Amino acid sequence: MEIKIIQCPKCGQIQGSMALKIFQCKFCEHKTKIRKVKILKKTDDSEKALALISNLKMQKAVKENDNL
Ligand SMILES: [Zn+2]
Repeated sequence: MEIKIIQCPKCGQIQGSMALKIFQCKFCEHKTKIRKVKILKKTDDSEKALALISNLKMQKAVKENDNL
């Protein structure tokens, strides 16, 4: 099963999703079509997905710190 790493367009949280058509954010429950969201990465390995998510979150945190 392919896992997509998606950043929620509404709240900006990065998370894995296996949805095929509709993405629903785990954090803010925002729903949108998969085709409309930006898919950061794809993998079919769930452990790799978790590693990718934590990497991307770290990069995002670094970027946000740079803006301060
Ligand atoms: Zn969200």
